[in-house]
Amino acid sequence: MLIVIDGPAGAGKTTVSRALAERLGYKYIDTGALYRGVAYEILARGIDPDDQDGLSLLLTNLDLRFERTAEGMRLFSSGTDITDYIRTPQITMLASAASAKPVVRQALLDLQRGMGKQKAAVFEGRDMGTVVFPDADVKFFLTADLKVRAMRRFEELGRTSSQSLEQVENDMQIRDSDDSSREASPLKPAEDAIQVDSTDKTVEVVVDEMLDIVQAAAGR
Ligand code: C5P
Repeated sequence: MLIVIDGPAGAGKTTVSRALAERLGYKYIDTGALYRGVAYEILARGIDPDDQDGLSLLLTNLDLRFERTAEGMRLFSSGTDITDYIRTPQITMLASAASAKPVVRQALLDLQRGMGKQKAAVFEGRDMGTVVFPDADVKFFLTADLKVRAMRRFEELGRTSSQSLEQVENDMQIRDSDDSSREASPLKPAEDAIQVDSTDKTVEVVVDEMLDIVQAAAGR
């Protein structure tokens, strides 16, 4: 089966998707990492995100792939492991800005569909259920209150982060609002998505709930 989990930043999509994939023996694809990979290359090459030609050239030569290594699943861009460089606040906000560009979405659409061909996968993102995989077998939309999401992300970033809790919450609010209001594939639940609110639930509870739904769908 192909399972998709969409939702705003910090709702727990990554942790839950990874755990669900593991329980099912499926592969897990973090599509946000691909947008972050594009942002990484924009920054590394000094491209102006509003320069259509520069962006198109970058996307034509884009070579992003996930590879399983001894350290787990890593993201490679043109053969270089960029996993450790794509979670900075700067890349986070640039990924959101770049993701509003239709050329960027189009380039990543084909890449994502290619990765989903063999199914047996859990895809996490913003438009998995609405645009990339409208025929997915099970669609979840995972949410949580903004304050809870900001606190989770703040804790995840750890003490080495230069951002305060207020900055994390502020960035998150801006990003959610930009992601939800953009014209190209906005963040929203698919009509047939099952909404799960993780505000007061542990990861285990959410994953068990999802697993029950997936197993019921498999038996249909
Ligand atoms: O999920 P993550 O926070 O890593 O995603 C980074 C950014 O990439 C999001 O804020 C969003 O703008 C963009 N994104 C997207 N569509 C996806 C996944 C991520 O637009 N399917």
